[in-house]
Amino acid sequence: MTIGEMENVEVFTAEGKGRGLKATKEFCAADIIFAERAYSAVVFDSLVNVVCHTCFKRQEKLHRCGQCKFAHYCDRTCQKDAWLNHKNECSAIKRYGKVPNENIRLAARIMWRVEREGSGLTEGCLVSVDDLQNHVEHFGEEEQKELRLDVDTFLQYWPPQSQQFSMQYISHIFGVINCNGFTLSDQRGLQAVGVGVFPNLALVNHDCWPNCTVIFNNGNHEAVKSMFHTQMRIELRALGKISEGEELTVSYIDFLNISEERKKQLKRQYYFDCTCEHCQKGLKDDLFLGVKDDPKPSQEVVKEMIQFSKDTLEKIDKARSEGLYHEVVKLCRECLQKQEPVFADTNIYTLRLLSIVSEVLSYLQAFEEASHYARRMVDGYMKLYHPNNAQLGMAIMRAGLTNWHAGNIEAMRMQTEMELRMFRQNEFMYHKMREAALNNQPMQVMAEPSNEPAPALFHKKQ
Ligand SMILES: [Zn+2]
Ligand SMILES: [Zn+2]
Ligand SMILES: [Zn+2]
Repeated sequence: MTIGEMENVEVFTAEGKGRGLKATKEFCAADIIFAERAYSAVVFDSLVNVVCHTCFKRQEKLHRCGQCKFAHYCDRTCQKDAWLNHKNECSAIKRYGKVPNENIRLAARIMWRVEREGSGLTEGCLVSVDDLQNHVEHFGEEEQKELRLDVDTFLQYWPPQSQQFSMQYISHIFGVINCNGFTLSDQRGLQAVGVGVFPNLALVNHDCWPNCTVIFNNGNHEAVKSMFHTQMRIELRALGKISEGEELTVSYIDFLNISEERKKQLKRQYYFDCTCEHCQKGLKDDLFLGVKDDPKPSQEVVKEMIQFSKDTLEKIDKARSEGLYHEVVKLCRECLQKQEPVFADTNIYTLRLLSIVSEVLSYLQAFEEASHYARRMVDGYMKLYHPNNAQLGMAIMRAGLTNWHAGNIEAMRMQTEMELRMFRQNEFMYHKMREAALNNQPMQVMAEPSNEPAPALFHKKQ
């Protein structure tokens, strides 16, 4: 597979959804449908000193650009690769005297590229940046205000000797970033470290039960030749068999929610009404809201328990953001105990608590109890997610690590069986996730639970 080759897909007009992409041949699970380099990408403001600005790997030691003192790179090769995109940025930062935020840096990088290559189709792109959707007309008051601020700062940062763009065009670019900014993760796949625009990927429509997934590949540093050294890219991969002519879809959000809530989230963040089969038919909603069978609790009891769970989750969020992890554990334990006679093991309110409590207990090194909760969580996830879903894989790997720490032999045997099943279903995904989980395995202490959710597909304010 050559990066940028797009012969496996074709643009078409999807009914009621605007443009979309469909397959021009048949694919099997884990096949790469296309690989695409970022049109432009930047590292998040908070991580500019610890993540390479070219390959987005997190590194112990990075070399700093001697001129702006802002850009950081793994080595000479990453630095050389970056120069074309950094050159204008480097002198603009020196002139401006400070570094603008990630949104503005990305918009500027896109516009310098437009200045260099023109605004038409560039090689390997099925759509130009000009033709991407911006949804500026759907912005609410708050978003409008932020947009005006960004445009103002942009105009101060943008050098007078660079090509001058209209206000409308600058707004368009900010709109494009807002709805198409793809989240880039570090080499462990666990932390969101930057944002980039990938025009071809932007053409892939959403489905809550998609047939493709996106994998971010930071590139291979062992390769000595610059050509292969840092081929940072996204890969669109098939989750199962895809027929010729079938529309390709990815999920912009996590599936683990009732259809009504997913639809609300998609409308709020991506400005469209989801008409996918799972939303239309409310598939799996009964599982997400599952209650015990025998004895079946009354409607009233269920309603109360949902409210109690929502309130507890709010308290947990607060305690977590203050670093009060023992308080988090206490709240989770109490709530799970109350839920026990009411909710089934696929209930989303139970699963959310299980996910939080197993993560926090691992951090507190209470592996025995953590592994018990992690097992229950994975059992629930297995009934809800597509077997090749990355979120499911990550949960299984994390549960495995907890078991390993707890020295839980029986659980590890079951873990191995589960991994074997995953391996047979999707070998590539298995390796990718195993690598991620193992790299995140400090020998004594697990990573501090972060308040940030796992990297979402697109970079969005929640
Ligand atoms: Zn690098
Ligand atoms: Zn520089
Ligand atoms: Zn949907």
